[in-house]
Amino acid sequence: MDLTPLTEPLDQAVRVTARVAPALARLKIKRVIDLLNHFPRAYNQRVTISQLKAGMYASVAGQVVSVENKAAKRSRMKLTEAVVSDGTGAIKAVWFNQPWLTGKLHPGTRIRLSGPVDYAYNAWSIKPSAFELNPPPFEPGLEAEYPLSDGISNEDFVALVAAVINRAELIPDPLPHALATQLRLMPIGEAYRHAHAPKHAKALDAARLALKYREFFLLQAGLRLRRRSEAHDAELAITVTDDLRARALKYFPFEFTGAQTRVCGEIERDLTTPGRMHRLLQGDVGSGKTAVALFAALLMLDNGYQCAIMAPTEVLARQHYANISAYLKGTRVRVALLLGGMKKSERDALMTDLEAGKVHILIGTHALLEDYVKFKKLGLCVIDEQHKFGVAQRATLRAKGNRPHVLAMSATPIPRTLSMTLYGALDVSIIDELPPGRTPVITQWVHRSREQHAYERIRAELKDGGRAYFVYPLVNESDKLELKSATEFAETLKNETFPEFRVGLVHGQMSTDEKDAAVQAFRNGKLDILAATVVVEVGVDVPEANIMVIENAERFGLSQLHQLRGRVGRGRKQSYLYLFGDPKTEEAVKRLNVICATHDGFRIAEEDLRMRGFGDFAGTRQSGLPKLHIGDFDRDYEALHRARMDAGKFGEQVDEALIRTCLELHFGCKYRLLDV
Ligand code: ADP
Ligand code: MG
Repeated sequence: MDLTPLTEPLDQAVRVTARVAPALARLKIKRVIDLLNHFPRAYNQRVTISQLKAGMYASVAGQVVSVENKAAKRSRMKLTEAVVSDGTGAIKAVWFNQPWLTGKLHPGTRIRLSGPVDYAYNAWSIKPSAFELNPPPFEPGLEAEYPLSDGISNEDFVALVAAVINRAELIPDPLPHALATQLRLMPIGEAYRHAHAPKHAKALDAARLALKYREFFLLQAGLRLRRRSEAHDAELAITVTDDLRARALKYFPFEFTGAQTRVCGEIERDLTTPGRMHRLLQGDVGSGKTAVALFAALLMLDNGYQCAIMAPTEVLARQHYANISAYLKGTRVRVALLLGGMKKSERDALMTDLEAGKVHILIGTHALLEDYVKFKKLGLCVIDEQHKFGVAQRATLRAKGNRPHVLAMSATPIPRTLSMTLYGALDVSIIDELPPGRTPVITQWVHRSREQHAYERIRAELKDGGRAYFVYPLVNESDKLELKSATEFAETLKNETFPEFRVGLVHGQMSTDEKDAAVQAFRNGKLDILAATVVVEVGVDVPEANIMVIENAERFGLSQLHQLRGRVGRGRKQSYLYLFGDPKTEEAVKRLNVICATHDGFRIAEEDLRMRGFGDFAGTRQSGLPKLHIGDFDRDYEALHRARMDAGKFGEQVDEALIRTCLELHFGCKYRLLDV
């Protein structure tokens, strides 16, 4: 299979003028295949004005009758309006903030206009997304409109594509022959041709479906391949005897819940069979993930391996360190904490011990990724709140061992079907049960007018020995103005609202010592109220805290609200969450209603995804997925799901070499780089 006609640099294949070259570079189009994979964002129907239908994306051509600039009603925008006639009717084109257009458009100028059309007050109007002066003669049909950058016109792009479209015949089809036949999808070369220059709407639909399906199939097949290659890594299979398991469980001052026990079994199976573990452990805040991670670590330690636990914040890393040290008190297991701000002498001593294998569990923040961190024999990486780290960071940690096991943890659950679709290469374990003795947090949304009433109830709780968090949203922890308002807010609490109680403040700009001191005072009961920014979102564990007030709750996302709520409801007292807020959008109202209505993290995650969209989620760095050219994780969910099933069903017939080739050609990445 000679693919050079596809991988050839575009400027060698066709003439690329100096004018369009920078635009192509901005669009990341280097090779011929990159150009072919740059698909239209819309298709306009070429029609006469008499054939228009309201709402259609149309392309009409005619002569300018009149042009004028106007001021828009109720806004500072400038409008340019031109009336264009083609002999069958007239249409008004409206542009925003482009007054210079009047210098180009004159009565009599021939123009082609493309974009969405509308019919109101007995007149047609169009908001042109593109226009062309003195266009070539008009033929009926569909016209592709590309997402472009300055310096290249739609016509330039159409011409470039036309010059190389014949090479689309050479693009290899990732589908096994039997599957392609069964699905009766349009052949790949033909599909490219119709996606760029469709003859009619029916061919266009068939072409786009064929390409989307193939793109999803390729992605899923790639993920499966990666997983299969990992299954062949046999180095790390450890031995776990009944005695070892029993000894490990004795470290914990409680019985594991049913869900924890099940998940420990899944992890144990991963560790004792050939192949590297790559598991995502999902469970609500406080469901006992850390305990499970420690169990896994203990099994590895007994087999002579070291373990790393990486957390996204210092508060969280310290929390893990405190908890795990407490579990392991009086044993020979040595746990150490590595933080960014450590004294060099102290750090050097720690690193020497780590490299000598004298430190068994190393807990830390991003500091674990530094070059000076060297293990003797790292066997397990635990990555807490894994979505807070980038793909490259997670890979850096792994590279500190010889293909160690990975246990990623997340308290932001992803609905199971979705995570399997997205993370084709990852095993998922779920802790769907909270440790006994937790009582659901009573959650209320408090309207501005009822705030005073809520304060009185909080006062009563505090008098009764309760402790409260007051959380203040800071969009940006480094924003001075916002920080000032958080500080003022704490002052008001202290001096006006609750003068009889002791109020402390913690925020991201404080030094670690200051932060610790505040949290510590709250934990010891020396403070009744801790005013805080979202730094308390993860890791702060004060079981006596039973009240949380979230100010401007409408500014927080669903998952964040849920995560914050996890800070209370950890002790024996009934806990309360008061959401203060004055939501301005329908979506914000919905968010607050969802939080009040349910405690189920998975339902909340599902609602969150429904509101934010799958694409938003898949597009974030946490997914590690390549950017799709034609498929859309949200809108094409059906095709995605189908492709995933088929990639599984036809797994044996998939040609590995072919998939690798297609991955490189299509996404420009090797399958090893598909990461999560
Ligand atoms: P997560 O990491 O999921 O937020 P942790 O492992 O930190 O949860 O556990 C939260 C709290 O619950 C800790 O104080 C821990 O000691 C306690 N805990 C964990 N598992 C159990 C259990 N099975 N029974 C009782 N308490 C538990
Ligand atoms: Mg945790």
